Amino acid sequence: MTLVATGSPVFCDTPAMSASSTLISTPARRAIAPLADQLVSQIAAGEVIERPASIVKELVENALDAGALRIDVRLAGGGVKRTVVSDDGGGIAREELALALTRHATSKIATLSDLEAVATLGFRGEALAAIAAVAAVSITSRTLDAASAFTIDAQSGQIAPAAGGRGTRVEVADLFFKTPARRKFLRAEATELAHCVKQIGRIAAAHPEVEFTVQHDGRTMLSLPPAEQRARAVQLLPDQFAGQHRAIEVEAAGIRLSGWVGLPAASRTRADAQLFYVNGRYVRDKVLAHAARAAYGDVLHGHAQPMYALFLAIDPARVDVNVHPTKIEVRFRDSSAIHQFVLHAVSRALAPAAQDRAGNEASAPSSLAALAAARARRTSAIGESGWRRSEQTALGVAQPVTDYLALFAARSDRHDRSAPFNAELCPESGAVRDAGNAAERDIDDAADRGAKRTDGIASVQDDLPLGFALAQLQGIYILAQNRRGLVIVDMHAAHERIVYERLKQQLDARAIPQQRLLLPQVFAAEALDVATAEENAGTLAEIGLDVAPAAPNQLALRAVPALLAGADGATLARDVLRDLREFGGSRVLTERRDELLATLACHAAVRANRKLTLAEMNALLREMEATERADQCNHGRPTWVQVAIGELDALFLRGQ
Ligand code: ADP
Ligand code: MG
Repeated sequence: MTLVATGSPVFCDTPAMSASSTLISTPARRAIAPLADQLVSQIAAGEVIERPASIVKELVENALDAGALRIDVRLAGGGVKRTVVSDDGGGIAREELALALTRHATSKIATLSDLEAVATLGFRGEALAAIAAVAAVSITSRTLDAASAFTIDAQSGQIAPAAGGRGTRVEVADLFFKTPARRKFLRAEATELAHCVKQIGRIAAAHPEVEFTVQHDGRTMLSLPPAEQRARAVQLLPDQFAGQHRAIEVEAAGIRLSGWVGLPAASRTRADAQLFYVNGRYVRDKVLAHAARAAYGDVLHGHAQPMYALFLAIDPARVDVNVHPTKIEVRFRDSSAIHQFVLHAVSRALAPAAQDRAGNEASAPSSLAALAAARARRTSAIGESGWRRSEQTALGVAQPVTDYLALFAARSDRHDRSAPFNAELCPESGAVRDAGNAAERDIDDAADRGAKRTDGIASVQDDLPLGFALAQLQGIYILAQNRRGLVIVDMHAAHERIVYERLKQQLDARAIPQQRLLLPQVFAAEALDVATAEENAGTLAEIGLDVAPAAPNQLALRAVPALLAGADGATLARDVLRDLREFGGSRVLTERRDELLATLACHAAVRANRKLTLAEMNALLREMEATERADQCNHGRPTWVQVAIGELDALFLRGQ
């Protein structure tokens, strides 16, 4: 977490939070009244004050409930010695000061139906009383119409006029001074302080319109000027989040999910950069966390943890926030629907088919995106078609492109996703010969169709997000050009991703086509591997592998998944057996399925330094476009990047 703010945030509209912020914005101030006895028992009671961070949370939430736009937190001694929270909210009337400190007195709900539709952060009316029971508390407050501020000392109950503007200042000192036993549970000052700052950060992420400042022993720990929601989230999450996230904005059936999800490349080893909010309230909910993590299942493996800031807005009646004393857990009336909704929304955000992404300017670095946009405007001023077409021919790819148009037309009509990908990549193989023949048959059709279009190549280029291959670089990268400029593809990573998705579909359909080897491949194996192969023959068969003991320390490989026909069989078999041993035969096809698929896909991938023809490269680009999540390899690395013309222009200082 970035503790001290850097850079100045931009003021923009804040679409993402509008729903939740309306939900938590305070209505006209209501008088504080004791809750009816029955209602008291309907409210889950509980100890809310465990440590300084709990105090900070309650006080900051009270300030927000009071409509504050500036909240200042001053801490001393990790918050144990002193915590002062000042706000510029609605304030507390003099005659209600004592009531504010009374247990179960609140201005926020009065009836059970209020409780069911609670829209404020607080509602139990017990936080101030609980804090006053374990620390020395004083409240100084002034409402808009009061002649002056008043201070109440919780200990004595005495009220006296005080200096101060509109708003409230709650001072809490000497936490647990009356209960030394509990004081022992507090950690080192630095730890308590870190918890306080984290707590404030979590709240602040959902209230970008509010300015937060936090000081500890006179040192600024956090300084958050009012910001647009995304800027606030970026400021609070780890640095890698900044350039590597996608926006989510989905609404259906009265539920809305908005926010930003980190790309797999920006993952963490710990789940400590995951902010999830329900109606503006930070929650740690198993259903939500599981749905979000599951959405990353195909692109993040092992224990890697994604980063995100997600805001769920839902009718308060559909969620119970009254299940945990600190309200950090919630209960949805319909949790499986919510799970589905979140899983789907996050998956879509992470896996727009390449189609969606190439046109999505938002995913390009912003300054460069602006340059690219400027460039695009310039282009259209020059005159769309002529400019583009001449550029296309000038690059010397005109011939392959026309040939390819036909090939593509043929392929897209007859696209057979179950065909082994390696075969498609190898021009001498049957699959490509067939495609070639089909291409010849269709070439006239395609030419016709092409001719009917007014802007020929340019519009086909628009249709192909990853564009056309230009060349192969160092045997590692494919260079292609599309509408926006240059596309650079990591061949190996891209192929791996395609094979992974194919295998996954086949495994889901319980039909992994097998390729039997002409001669069994016998290889040396440890006794442990031999035993594993024997025990898991069924599982191995399900994934298309036929590997059986040939001798006490030899295995014979007789068949491999067709997609992996070109792979080194012995290494593949050994790796799969290792997975089987590590994850356990029964789990390898369920919980650890993604890891297994990744292991398999890794073996199929085109090795670096293999020379590809333009047709093969183009075939790979088309496969990528047709593959979900093609833009992330199985290890979370990107498989391709876009370099916009604007970025190239910038390199050459053009148009400046
Ligand atoms: P709750 O927030 O659950 O209502 P609290 O014990 O935290 O209970 O606060 C009791 C009452 O004191 C609140 O309902 C509110 O009316 C008042 N109050 C507390 N803090 C503030 C504040 N910073 N500004 C205005 N009113 C406040
Ligand atoms: Mg409260």
